Amino acid sequence: STFNELNLSPEILKSLAGLGYEKMTDVQSRVIPEILKGNDVMVQSKTGSGKTAAFGTAISEQIDWEENRPQALILTPTRELAIQIQEEMMNIGRFKRLKAVAVYGKSPFKEQAQQLKQKTHVVVGTPGRVLDHLERGTLNLQRVKYVVLDEADEMLSMGFIETIEMILKMTSLNRQTLFFSATLPARIEKLSQQYLKNPSMITI
Ligand code: AMP
Repeated sequence: STFNELNLSPEILKSLAGLGYEKMTDVQSRVIPEILKGNDVMVQSKTGSGKTAAFGTAISEQIDWEENRPQALILTPTRELAIQIQEEMMNIGRFKRLKAVAVYGKSPFKEQAQQLKQKTHVVVGTPGRVLDHLERGTLNLQRVKYVVLDEADEMLSMGFIETIEMILKMTSLNRQTLFFSATLPARIEKLSQQYLKNPSMITI
């Protein structure tokens, strides 16, 4: 099926067409409608399946340009992934003038803090640096509508689980939570039971 079959705004459809995305991948056709319905999701799918554009399209569609505090947080294991996801969000949200900021370690804190002071709809980051910004008051996630865990199993192997739990506790209780993982180790299952509300389980 194609993106045109979804009830997306013209701005989002235009940017997807510009990226050359016409047909949805399996993960996209199953995940985007669930997110748009307001459901939490636990998605088991490999990298390369188009999962970034799956959560990216649904979240960009729902971003309110006027709201000045971050509306979505995406946690990912590495700097490279944070930058890639930030670029994909900016591309999909281009005609809504969506602003996404990437924050990651081993890079000047102050410059990121400066960027976060400007209008920021979406924050993409590695867990350690995101927690750092939260604790130092340069990031506030109380208005966040979406929290995404990208490559949850990778973040687990890298020892980020406690950091992720601390971050989740500092976000709005009204948030929608979306977990993406290539594998489902017991610790990730447990995390999903603790933090997802009645999730749709999607296996690709
Ligand atoms: P990901 O799994 O998010 O890393 O995406 C893998 C690759 O698929 C990326 O290079 C995307 O640009 C590309 N891609 C994502 N969705 C689509 C789509 N619907 N049609 C064509 N390419 C896509």
